[in-house]
Amino acid sequence: MNIYNSLTKRVEEFKENEPGKVAMYTCGPTVYHFAHIGNLRTYIMEDVLEKTLRYCGYDVKRVMNITDVGHLSSDADTGEDKMLKGAKREHKTVMEIAKFYTDAFMSDCKKLNIKTPDVVEPATNCIDEFIHMIEVLLEKGYAYKAGENIYFDTSKLQNYYVFGNQSEDDLKVGVRDDVTEDTNKRNKNDFVLWFTKSKFEDQALKWDSPWGVGYPGWHIECSCIGMKHLGEYMDIHCGGVDNMFPHHTNEIAQSESFTGHKWCNYWFHVHHLNDETGKMSKSKGEFLTVSLLEEKGYNPVAYRFFCLQSHYRKPLTFSYDALEQASATYKKLKNKIISIPEEGAVDEAALKEWHDKFAETVGNDVNTAMGITLLYDVLKTDLNGATKRAIIGDFDLVLSLDLLKADAEGEGAADNGADPELVAFVESKIAERKEAKKAKDFAKADAIRDELLSKGIVIEDTREGVKWKLQ
Ligand code: AMP
Ligand code: ZN
Repeated sequence: MNIYNSLTKRVEEFKENEPGKVAMYTCGPTVYHFAHIGNLRTYIMEDVLEKTLRYCGYDVKRVMNITDVGHLSSDADTGEDKMLKGAKREHKTVMEIAKFYTDAFMSDCKKLNIKTPDVVEPATNCIDEFIHMIEVLLEKGYAYKAGENIYFDTSKLQNYYVFGNQSEDDLKVGVRDDVTEDTNKRNKNDFVLWFTKSKFEDQALKWDSPWGVGYPGWHIECSCIGMKHLGEYMDIHCGGVDNMFPHHTNEIAQSESFTGHKWCNYWFHVHHLNDETGKMSKSKGEFLTVSLLEEKGYNPVAYRFFCLQSHYRKPLTFSYDALEQASATYKKLKNKIISIPEEGAVDEAALKEWHDKFAETVGNDVNTAMGITLLYDVLKTDLNGATKRAIIGDFDLVLSLDLLKADAEGEGAADNGADPELVAFVESKIAERKEAKKAKDFAKADAIRDELLSKGIVIEDTREGVKWKLQ
């Protein structure tokens, strides 16, 4: 498996720390609002990465945090806590907001066939671990107290800018006019590990600490939750490209200062989904969520297909036209697959050959677009139906596009003749079943009914004849 590493800016051959095992970490959502489909592009591509590693034979343990405290509206450690903002907006408590939006996020992931990570841990579960790491950083001289907050001292590091191309000016970007600079910081990019004093009086969640009652900064959670479940060495750490600086830069700074050694070998960053205005936003314009796409009649998995058609290291522009096109291609592809005849026995050698080809293709820096091209190549072969279906099912372990299931989205196809290929296939099966019944071969008739059902097609005998619909 090859993977692009943001640390070295090269595609590298993946080498795990412990033979056959992968310790993988994903920055999770800040649960103050619904995830937009841009956020979800990142989670879809991380899901494909995880599944590709498993497909290539690795035993993956994947951990994800849920940010439910400490993420302020500005990356420069100023502004309001996002969770508190969400709670005020909806007249609920922070914990109610956290639960509601964590559930909503999980439900969106399910609709997009994103597997739940092996461990999902909210930041508020791990306050003791945060305090311990901060104590060690203070002892080792990497942190200091100022204005009653604890800060990480970035000047103590030889190379703080591990991803290159960031400068101190970066943090000025995103600082809104109404947000004042934190004058306690010794260096511009020092960041808060623990707040005991902030400009707002009513921070909802507070914990006792050696430095007074307060709450953690945002970055500490990913270092601590990662180490809690994966130990001091991590193979792959993922996130959206905006996380690279300051969030991931700060995670590395504190983790490596804490352990005294390199923490994570590969950094995987997914580029942004932008709308036509250039930036996806939760506050301006139409807030693009999975539910909104559903309301507009799209199958969420068609959105997954749309994402998989592009490489994760390129920005992607969302438009309804582009989604419409992806959705039509997806439906057509599925209907082609559904109508593959159920015939022959699986050719195991061919299955293995295509498995290896797919592993090599998608395993080359998660090249999902080429993986989809391979699918069409399989359809073009003269392999028997059973083998084609087995290969496609095998690819779908990674793609997770429900390729062997008929789609509720195609409902009505029978009435409006939208997809002649599917209609012809189902009707030929119904005719075959009718013949079997006539010949009193009820076992065969039932087998045909079951075969259709296994593809998500339900048939019903009515007085007006046989009717069918998609499940
Ligand atoms: P947040 O909930 O804001 O912490 O973001 C969750 C994840 O989505 C992070 O990994 C972000 O880097 C990522 N992300 C934010 N905006 C976008 C976008 N427009 N496209 C893709 N990923 C994004
Ligand atoms: Zn993180």
